[in-house]
Amino acid sequence: MWFRRDLRLADLPALQAAAAEGRRVVPLFVVDPAFERSGHPRRAFMADCLRALDESMGGSLVYRHGDPAQVVPALAAEVGALDVFVTRDYGPYGRARDAAVGAALGRAGARLHGIGTPYAVPPGDVNKADGTAYAVFTPFSKMWRAHGWGAPSGTTDVEWFGAPDVPCDGPPARPATNAVLPAAGERAAHRRWDEFLPAVGDYRDVRNLPASDGTSRLSAALRWGLLHPRQLLADLLPQPGHDTFASELAWREFYADVLFRRPDSASSNLNARMAAMAVDTDAAAHERFRRWAAGTTGYPIVDAGMRQLAASGWMHNRVRMLVASFLVKDLHLPWQWGARHFMRHLVDGDLASNSHGWQWTAGTGTDAAPYFRIFNPTTQALRFDPDGDYVRTWVPELAGIAGGAVHEPGARRPPDYPQPMVDHAVERDEALHRYRQVSVGSR
Ligand SMILES: Cc1cc2nc3c(=O)[nH]c(=O)nc-3n(C[C@H](O)[C@H](O)[C@H](O)COP(=O)(O)OP(=O)(O)OC[C@H]3O[C@@H](n4cnc5c(N)ncnc54)[C@H](O)[C@@H]3O)c2cc1C
Repeated sequence: MWFRRDLRLADLPALQAAAAEGRRVVPLFVVDPAFERSGHPRRAFMADCLRALDESMGGSLVYRHGDPAQVVPALAAEVGALDVFVTRDYGPYGRARDAAVGAALGRAGARLHGIGTPYAVPPGDVNKADGTAYAVFTPFSKMWRAHGWGAPSGTTDVEWFGAPDVPCDGPPARPATNAVLPAAGERAAHRRWDEFLPAVGDYRDVRNLPASDGTSRLSAALRWGLLHPRQLLADLLPQPGHDTFASELAWREFYADVLFRRPDSASSNLNARMAAMAVDTDAAAHERFRRWAAGTTGYPIVDAGMRQLAASGWMHNRVRMLVASFLVKDLHLPWQWGARHFMRHLVDGDLASNSHGWQWTAGTGTDAAPYFRIFNPTTQALRFDPDGDYVRTWVPELAGIAGGAVHEPGARRPPDYPQPMVDHAVERDEALHRYRQVSVGSR
C-alpha cells in the first residue's frame, strides 16, 4: 500500500483492497524529490501527519527516498509484492507519475491498482446527458448530489509487514517554518470534525465572517486525506447550514473535475479569450507584488489576510477572495503570481482549488464571476468584519482603532501603518478599461 494524499487508516478502499489481496501489507511512503518544490508549511504538516500515521500502525511505515518510478518497483521486488495499491491521483503530476510507476511495475511483472479517490464522486464522472462536462458550478453540484456516493467504511484489519523488518530510509525532513500549523494526523482531524459538527447548522450565517471560528478548518485534513469527504457528508442532515457545507465540499470536487479535464488550467487561463487581458509585469509591478505579499498595502482587510496566511498557513475564504481580487483588479498583476505565493504558504495548498479559486476571482476560469464584478475591499470589509476584530487580530499597528473605523481609508492612521498604496476607485476604472479592450478585441 503506497500512501500519498490519503494519510489515514479508516475508510480507505485501497488499503482494504490490499488487505484482501495479500496476507500481509507493506505500508510505503515515497519521499519524492519533487516535493522540494512545495512550500515549507505544507511539507512540515505532511511530515507531522506521516509521524501520526506511522504511530497508528505501530511504527511499520516504510519510507523510501527517490523517484517513485524506481523506488516503488525496487521495493516490490525486494518484498516479493506483485500488487501495489494506491488511491487514484487526479492532478497532472500525479497522473504522469502513476503512469510511469505503473509501466515500470508492469515491466517487472507486477501491477499498480488505483482504488478509490480523494473525492465523494471521482473527477470525470459527473456529466451532462450528452456526456460532456459542466462548465458551471450549480448544475454540476445538482448532478453531483444526484450521482451520490457510498457510505464510509471503518478501519481495516491489517497485518503490517514493514519497518523494522523491511529496510527503510528516514522520514522526510521537516522544513523550518514560522507558521503555527494545525494539529496533524487522522485522530486530530476527526476531533476537529466532532467539535465543528454541532455548529454546522450556523455555517450558512457565519461562514463569511473571518473573525468568527465559523468554518471547519478541515481543508488541510482533506488535502492530505486525513479524512475522506464521504465521512463528513455521511454526518450531514437535510438542513440549511448542512446543505451549504455540502455545497462547499462540492466546490472542491468541481475544481478537481475541471483540472482533471483541463490539466493546462493549473497555470493557464481556462477561458482562452482572457489571455489577451493586459497585465503588468515590469519592475514596478514586482514592487506592488512585494507589498501585497508582505501585507503592507494600506488596505487593512488585505493586509490582515496576507499576514494570517504567513502566520498560520491558512486564510479565511472570504479574505482569500478579497486579496486575490485586489492583486488582479487593483494591482493589475497576473493571477499566477498570487496563486504561486498561496501555494508556497498554504498548508491546504491544492492545485485544483487554488488555481481555480484564483481563476474564479480573476474572471478567467469557470464563468460564475464575470471580470467586471469587482470587490471593493473597504465595503466588503465593513460588511464581513463590521467590528474590525479580524483586522486588529492580524494587524497590530491598528489595534488602537476601535470598531469598523479601522477599515476606513480616510481615517487617521498610526505612523507605522502605510497609507493605501492605490486608490480603489481609480484602479477599478483601469481594470474595467483593460477588460473592455479584451471584449472589443474578441468581437
Ligand atoms: C484564491 C483562492 C485560493 C484557494 N486555494 C485553496 C487551496 O489551495 N486549497 C483549498 O483546500 N482551498 C482553497 N480555496 C478554497 C477555500 O478558501 C478553502 O478551502 C477554505 O477557506 C478552507 O477553510 P475551511 O476548511 O475552514 O473551509 P470550510 O468553509 O469549512 O469548507 C469545508 C471544505 O470545503 C472545501 N471548500 C470550501 N470552499 C471551497 C472553495 N471555494 N473551493 C474549493 N473547495 C472549497 C474545502 O475542502 C474545505 O475544507 C481557495 C479559495 C480562493 C478564493
